[in-house]
Amino acid sequence: MHELSIVSSVLDQLEDLKKQQPEGTVFSKVGLRVGELAGVDVDCLRFGFECVVKDTNWEHLVLEIEQVARRQQCPGCKEEFQAENWATACPKCGEAATITIAGEELQIAYVEVDE
Ligand SMILES: [Zn+2]
Repeated sequence: MHELSIVSSVLDQLEDLKKQQPEGTVFSKVGLRVGELAGVDVDCLRFGFECVVKDTNWEHLVLEIEQVARRQQCPGCKEEFQAENWATACPKCGEAATITIAGEELQIAYVEVDE
């Protein structure tokens, strides 16, 4: 399952981050930024996360998912717009070949530490 490998990669990154923190630091929350083009089923991701962290050191870690809508930018007139229904042509000047500037994210947005 694709989502499980995402979870384990996130936990790997957290392990690395934790090594850079003072001894005894506890992460309480992790925020993931998931673009709509990332091909991730958010419900699956939440479920997979719960399964993976159960009975581990990460059991009390809260997962928050921030979903990012697809945004395009026009190379001609620099208009930025949200691509509704996969319509990616520029609404201002009609340019068809616009650039995706958001929506492909799959990354850790933030980590909260238990004080
Ligand atoms: Zn344009």
